[in-house]
Amino acid sequence: GMQTEHFPSATPNLNDGLIRLSSNENAFGPSKKAVEAMQGELLNLCRYSDATVNVLVKKIAAQEGVSEDQIIVTNGSSPILFGYADWITKNGNKLVTSMATYEGVPRGAEFMGADVTYVPLDANMDFDLDAIEAAVTNDTTAVYICNPNNPTGRAVDAAKLTAFAKRVSQKAQVFIDEAYIEMSDAYPSNVQSKLAADGYNVVICRTFSKIHAMAGQRLGYAIMPADQAKQMGRMLRMGGVNYLGLVAGMASMEDLENLNTMRSRVGTERAKLTAAAEALGRPYAKNPQGNFIYMDTGMPHDEFATKMRALGVKVVGRTWPGYDTWSRISVGTPEETDACVNALKAVYA
Ligand code: PLP
Repeated sequence: GMQTEHFPSATPNLNDGLIRLSSNENAFGPSKKAVEAMQGELLNLCRYSDATVNVLVKKIAAQEGVSEDQIIVTNGSSPILFGYADWITKNGNKLVTSMATYEGVPRGAEFMGADVTYVPLDANMDFDLDAIEAAVTNDTTAVYICNPNNPTGRAVDAAKLTAFAKRVSQKAQVFIDEAYIEMSDAYPSNVQSKLAADGYNVVICRTFSKIHAMAGQRLGYAIMPADQAKQMGRMLRMGGVNYLGLVAGMASMEDLENLNTMRSRVGTERAKLTAAAEALGRPYAKNPQGNFIYMDTGMPHDEFATKMRALGVKVVGRTWPGYDTWSRISVGTPEETDACVNALKAVYA
C-alpha cells in the first residue's frame, strides 16, 4: 500500500484512526520532486519570499499565457476567495451564484454584507448557466462559478462556459474557481485562463491543495485584470507567501508525469465510489470530475456520518441548504477507498 502519512502526527485528526474522506484532500501526497525541493531549501526559511513569488509568477504567466501583472499568489486560494468577497462589497455588493457550491466566495460575501442570489442547480446538478445569465443585471458585481463544482463534482461543458463567460462578463465579472480542474477528464482543454489572456472581465482561481496534494502547505493563485490584481494585491500580498509552498509548488508544476499519474489515480478511486453508489442504488451526481462524489444517502446527513464514523470513515461534516440527505465523499488511497466502499455496503446492507 501507499503510506502517505506519518504517525504519530502533529495533526490530532490523523491520530484518531479514522479514514479522512471529509475534506477533498489528495491522500496520494505531494510529488516526490516537491518534497525533495522543500528538503533542499529548509535552511533558506530565514529569508522573506517576495523574490521567489516573482519566480512563480513568471512560471504561471508562461504556462497560462497571461501577463505577470494579472497574477496574485497567496497562501492557499482561500485568501483570494475572501479577498474577493471583500472586493464585491466595495464594488456594487451583488453576487450571483448557485446552491450548492463551495462557500468561500458566497458565504464570505454574505458575512461581509453583500447581497447574494443563489440560482438552483439544474436537473443534472449543473450550474444552470441560462438561469444564472437571466439573474445577472447591470448592477450585478460578480458571478461565482466553480468548475468542477464542489460539492457536486459536475463540470460544465467548456465551450458553453466560455461562451457564457464572454457574454456575461460584459455585465458582471465572472469568477471561475478551478480548484479541481486538473482532475477533470477534459483537462487541459477545459481551462479558462485564455479568457483572462484575451482581456475578458474574469477571474480564474487555482490551488495547489488538490491535484498537487499540498493542502497543508498553502499555495494558490488567481488570474484577473491587471488593474484589479494591483488593487486586490495591495492587501493580499501583505505578509508574503510561505517559502516552502513556493518551492514545492514550482517543483510540482514542472512534474507533469506526477500530474498525469495523479489524474489517473484519482479517476480510478472515484470510479470505485460511483460504482458503489450505482450498486447500492443511491442517487448521486453523475460523472463527477473532482476527487469526490456527491450522493443522496437517503437519511439525515448526521445519521449517515455517524454510521460511517462507526465503521472508521470520516465524511464531510456539513451539508448544503436543500441537500440535507446528501453527503460528499472524497476519494482516498486505494486501501482507503476500498474500506469506504465496504463501509457503504455495510450501511446499506
Ligand atoms: N475552492 C474550492 C472549490 C475548494 O473546494 C477549496 C477547498 O476545498 C478551495 C477553493 C480552497 O482551498 P485552498 O484554500 O486550500 O486553496
